[in-house]
Amino acid sequence: MSRVLIIGAGGVANVVVAKCCQNPEVFQEIMIASRTKSKCDALKEKFDGGKTIITTAQIDADNTDEIVKLINKYKPEMVINVALPYQDLTIMDACLETGVHYLDTANYEPPNIPKFEYKWQWAYKEKFEKAGLTAILGCGFDPGVTGVFSAYALKHYFDEIHYIDILDANGGDHGYPFATNFNPEINIREISANGRYWEKGDWVETDPLEIKRVYNFDQIGEKDAYLLYHEELESLAVHMPGIKRIRFFMTFSEKYITHLNVLKNVGMTSIEPIEIDGVKIQPLRFLKAVLPDPATLGPRTKGKTNIGCIYQGIKDGKPVSYYVYNVCDHQSCYKEVGSQAISYTTGVPAMIGAKLLLEGKWKKPGVYNVEEFDPDPFMEQLNKQGLPWNESFKPELVD
Ligand code: NDP
Repeated sequence: MSRVLIIGAGGVANVVVAKCCQNPEVFQEIMIASRTKSKCDALKEKFDGGKTIITTAQIDADNTDEIVKLINKYKPEMVINVALPYQDLTIMDACLETGVHYLDTANYEPPNIPKFEYKWQWAYKEKFEKAGLTAILGCGFDPGVTGVFSAYALKHYFDEIHYIDILDANGGDHGYPFATNFNPEINIREISANGRYWEKGDWVETDPLEIKRVYNFDQIGEKDAYLLYHEELESLAVHMPGIKRIRFFMTFSEKYITHLNVLKNVGMTSIEPIEIDGVKIQPLRFLKAVLPDPATLGPRTKGKTNIGCIYQGIKDGKPVSYYVYNVCDHQSCYKEVGSQAISYTTGVPAMIGAKLLLEGKWKKPGVYNVEEFDPDPFMEQLNKQGLPWNESFKPELVD
């Protein structure tokens, strides 16, 4: 019997809770703990009534002692961290202190430095090994499923993968002039940073959104896709033997880019605190407060997402191209769990990773990225849990 502590009660947590409740044979008991308890209670009310027993609690996950106390009281087997990347290390510390497993969907980012890297979390590897605990990092869609797709491609179709292009397209429309599909602060920090990709053993840096390609996505159509730095590039560059280049592209509409540029030009995306009437405030935090809450976009968003990876490499001395991707419909997600596809495509893989850990299939002491586990049980679960994948051996390539 498994008891799991879910930290965070936002858009992604909504999906994790829904999906845990759909798998009560694994998730017999869950506790939702977050900064604002009323949001946890609202999730409980929404999903209560099935076989999974749901409880809630208030927690400040920036405070390791508080998390330790809660874990000692609730005694879960693992923590699913779907709060913000700022809380990764405090939660990992608490897991180590109390002897419980850990899973998250985004790598640690110091609140005052716009830089996300795995180095802080990878530094916990030995501690988790010694404690006999598993920590699964970045188990959303991207990062997450993109790493599983990579391990699957390598295991079944390639001797060596030389090129990976990760393509993340959102053909959804929420009807607002400007809104972000997940936490605005995290999203805007990601997009307004310099672009970066891995080539021939080194990082190549670009200006923000400098490189654009147009790609014709299955079930979505042609979209402008911009090269961004994304965290799975760092781990895949380490874990894919023989890799020569990895790039990540995300689609944005012209309207989105125009709004973003204006906000940036007037200083609203800055994380440098400014003083207003004696109060210090980060402009980006203020912007987050005035933008629509991503959790409210669900009922308004129509259209589909298409996220996947194109691989080029060799098998038995011959060149091979392979594209594996998922298409997810915003409205179907909303009907099923009350969230749009961005939260859905993150929350479902987080639940699957937790399920595999609890079942012992993805349990090994240490700190791991998803591509370091056997991809097959995860790929099977994607098809069963609402994120079926498609594949093509003659994909259109990105130049
Ligand atoms: P939300 O902002 O909707 O939710 C975050 C939740 O964390 C909120 O409930 C918030 O509480 C809570 N929280 C924040 N700080 C604390 C704290 N100090 N203590 C306790 N709780 C806290 O974000 P999302 O649900 O959209 O995203 C969740 C995570 O998923 C993020 O880390 C994001 O980067 C990641 N993500 C990963 C993706 C992937 O594919 N790998 C894609 C999309 C997101 P409150 O309600 O009080 O603000």
